[in-house]
Amino acid sequence: MKQLVVITGASSGFGAEIAKIFAADGYPLLLLGRRLEKLQQLAANFSEVMVASVDVTDYTQFESAVRKAEAKYGPTDLLVNNAGLMLLGNVQNQSPTEWQTMLNTNVMGVLNGTQIVLNGMRQREHGTILNMSSLAGKKTFVNHAAYVASKFGVHGLSETIREENASKNVRIMMVAPGAAETELLTHVTSKSALTDYQAWKDSMGGLTLDPKQVARTVKFMYDMPQEVNIREVDIAATRQDA
Ligand code: NDP
Repeated sequence: MKQLVVITGASSGFGAEIAKIFAADGYPLLLLGRRLEKLQQLAANFSEVMVASVDVTDYTQFESAVRKAEAKYGPTDLLVNNAGLMLLGNVQNQSPTEWQTMLNTNVMGVLNGTQIVLNGMRQREHGTILNMSSLAGKKTFVNHAAYVASKFGVHGLSETIREENASKNVRIMMVAPGAAETELLTHVTSKSALTDYQAWKDSMGGLTLDPKQVARTVKFMYDMPQEVNIREVDIAATRQDA
């Protein structure tokens, strides 16, 4: 019997691909994101699925969606904290509002999701929380200061929570991807940061990390027996030199 998988940021990019791979393997899904229509379009191809328009920074909204799905499908066995935002810019020019939005989404969103499912997992001594970090959670990149801060935060909180819950047999995992073709860059407001990013990609002959490969990685990690925790995977296009 396949258990409930909850995926945040399922309306595009990595999250949508992760949803497809779990749906194809027969998992009941709860797909979350703010754009309900995109979630509904994706879910139209799946059999056991609920969708909800949820902002991960809103704890009450997030929790209510998870509890509704659990009432229908049973407890969450995998939460993929994937929702995230990258707003590039240098610190001397970037709007503090952009820092706040990123830190709220990328860090608070992960903490919110974690608390919402963690107590149940601890009680059952079974479950997995997989946090989508970034190579920018391990090393610095110019124009990425606040994003790097948020993703270093994800690395720090993930490892801490893993240590705290190891004795309860709950797995905390992390995936740290390199640059991939998703909607991530579409929110960047700084033209110069975008130009720099594009020049970096061009200097490597263009980057081709396919979100499907990230989804395959997530599935592989989850499919390991519960007593095995692949704590972290770094995955990037071979041609990415940073
Ligand atoms: P996309 O922009 O394609 O997807 C981001 C997803 O997050 C969307 O589904 C979006 O849905 C959702 N989201 C954003 N803010 C919120 C919010 N406040 N509440 C709920 N959902 C939200 O980008 P990616 O697929 O690339 O990003 C997924 C994750 O991967 C992010 O955490 C990102 O930092 C990370 N990452 C991406 C890399 C890349 O190069 N693409 C590299 C390394 C890491 P909606 O707008 O509908 O709310």
